[in-house]
Amino acid sequence: MTKKAVWVDEVYQGIVRTSFRLKKRLFKGKSPFQTVEVVETAGHGRLLLIDGMTMVSERDEFVYHEMIAHPALFLHPKPRRVLVIGGGDGGTVREVLKHRSVERCVLVEIDGLVVSASRKYIPQTAGALSDKRARVLIEDGVKFVAETKETFDVVIVDSTEPFGPAKELFGPSFYKNVKRILTEDGIVASQAGSPFYEITTIKNLFKITKPIFPIVEVCLFNNLTYPGGLWAFTFATKGLHPVKDFRPARVKASGLNLRWYNAEIHAGCFALPNFLKKAIGR
Ligand code: SAM
Repeated sequence: MTKKAVWVDEVYQGIVRTSFRLKKRLFKGKSPFQTVEVVETAGHGRLLLIDGMTMVSERDEFVYHEMIAHPALFLHPKPRRVLVIGGGDGGTVREVLKHRSVERCVLVEIDGLVVSASRKYIPQTAGALSDKRARVLIEDGVKFVAETKETFDVVIVDSTEPFGPAKELFGPSFYKNVKRILTEDGIVASQAGSPFYEITTIKNLFKITKPIFPIVEVCLFNNLTYPGGLWAFTFATKGLHPVKDFRPARVKASGLNLRWYNAEIHAGCFALPNFLKKAIGR
């Protein structure tokens, strides 16, 4: 008799459900911030879930992590010091450290349980956290940017959605502090959610960062496991334009063997559909 299929469901905004066929539950833990789970699935590798929401799947995480890191790291003329806020699974740090110019990548993740679970069960992303150039701090990113004396060439906000501990990562004072700790060619790329289901988040992030940074753009990419399959990052800089100042030759010269990002994707990912342009007042 064939075994009855068991599914792990992500219910998103109470209106859409994504189900992944479950092979095995590997971990479930509760931190002061959230519930953290890791499951083995039949078709998407291991999944990291936070409060029941899919964060990372081994099958498609390369898309998200390449796209949150490489547009900024190839636009900046010589990124040496990078700050990642959130991103406790380690995937963003892995992509940042592929750039030989990077001497130091500081990860500030509020929840140590996310880092320990990722280190134990998802070495594909968390392996990078043991790189000697990586420094992992378990603290609130809002507090870190307000107090740090360090400066960074690139800041990447790889956070959960704007509620709970992540709420203030979507606020003006956070971005004023990010601008304070960025060097002159500084760039900040931030997870901004789905243009279909969270257009308000994108609109608000755009509205907040516009008065603080001379250049603010939105970039889009597709992925497999997030609801709607289309996701956005906001991209703010102290002066470099993500397309006009982009040098495609840098990508080729890097010799990096990436699976999604390339020079054409970089140029194209900042082109927006009309409904999103209208929403951000373009
Ligand atoms: N790729 C995922 C997405 O698009 O939702 C995000 C991945 S990562 C796991 C998100 C991380 O942000 C979580 O581990 C969460 O603990 C962390 N986080 C939330 N608020 C934070 C804060 N204020 N400071 C630092 N990390 C925070």
